[in-house]
Amino acid sequence: MKEITLGVMGGGQLGRMFVHAAQRMGYFTAVLDPDPLSPAGRVSHHHIQTAYTDPAGLQQLSDRCVAVTTEFENVPAQALAQLAYARTVSPGAEAVAIAQDRAREKSHFESCGVPVAPYAVIETPVQLAVVPDDLLPGILKTASMGYDGKGQVRVHTQAELAAAWADLKNVPCVLEKMLPLQLECSVIVARGADGACVNLPVQRNLHRDGILAVTEVFEGNLPPALVERAVAAAKLIASGLQYVGVLCVEFFVLEPDSDDAAALGGLVVNEMAPRPHNSGHYSMDACDVSQFELQVRTLAGLPLTQPRQHSPSIMLNLLGDIWPDPDFSPPWAPVLALPGTHLHLYGKAKASKGRKMGHLTITGHTVEQVRATALQAAAILGIAPF
Ligand code: ATP
Ligand code: MG
Repeated sequence: MKEITLGVMGGGQLGRMFVHAAQRMGYFTAVLDPDPLSPAGRVSHHHIQTAYTDPAGLQQLSDRCVAVTTEFENVPAQALAQLAYARTVSPGAEAVAIAQDRAREKSHFESCGVPVAPYAVIETPVQLAVVPDDLLPGILKTASMGYDGKGQVRVHTQAELAAAWADLKNVPCVLEKMLPLQLECSVIVARGADGACVNLPVQRNLHRDGILAVTEVFEGNLPPALVERAVAAAKLIASGLQYVGVLCVEFFVLEPDSDDAAALGGLVVNEMAPRPHNSGHYSMDACDVSQFELQVRTLAGLPLTQPRQHSPSIMLNLLGDIWPDPDFSPPWAPVLALPGTHLHLYGKAKASKGRKMGHLTITGHTVEQVRATALQAAAILGIAPF
């Protein structure tokens, strides 16, 4: 049989799970990541160990693969543009560049008619000086390179804002008004080159310290009207970019009695990720098509069918915090003795606080059962209840 190779820029856990999905469907895989021990590089048929911008490495990836995707947001858009000369690259460099820049991302959302948190772009001292007081308290976020709450500072006064911008070395930033959140949710859509667009069920997400901690997905996790609005908004955002691939759009749901909810209509888009997303990991165990299979399908030009969730599920992130020292192994046996627990570890050599080391998905017949099991597993592992 002919070897068909799919490529991915980046060797983190998302690349690893993409590689697993691609290989299951008979594809060969190539990963470009400088780290010899990268989670995806270690399980891929081919691992090109060069910098992301290395022309020779990119050429090798391009020669080997029929199509290339990306697994992390900060992949240099220039590298994708170089690959795109000779190969299918999805998502495209332009969509990735927009997602990499909070200011451009917000303009795109606004152009799709989806409300965003009130904000100001801060790139110059003059822009800093004219920030209106009604954006405070707010969150100052670097316009690019942030993830898992990194590059963000909460500020309450103009003086704190000025100090925070200086601490961030005066790089381009966006100041967002701090909104009263009732809850957070996200939608994963997959869009093919023919414009066909499918979605996973809407995820309800709990963040702790700016990092995703728990995702709950089942009938009734969110009001149906909200689900419908979020899915419609995510699809508009994808089609507005002529997007091809898997896209995750994160939303805030505002406290219903707040002035902000009255002004913004309750549902506000936060940001998008041009790739599968941590909040979609449950789909590997709870849906008939996972977000990674959707990524393979969009990349290989295979048809998209609407995924069906066959089990209620809760996903718990396993952060480095539960590995107090390098030789410690968390108590997997009692966790896996609970019916419906699915352990995913990313094969990272070193644990550190807040680092995503793996996740645990719990499935079961009923929401009550899934919740009880998830709480038991969390207690065993020392993860705070939710
Ligand atoms: P990710 O890992 O999702 O890429 P990130 O570092 O890009 O994270 P954001 O999604 O911007 O960060 O913010 C992280 C979390 O901080 C949000 O999920 C939310 O809980 C909180 N947050 C961010 N912006 C606001 C806001 N304007 N008002 C209230 N809470 C916010
Ligand atoms: Mg986020």
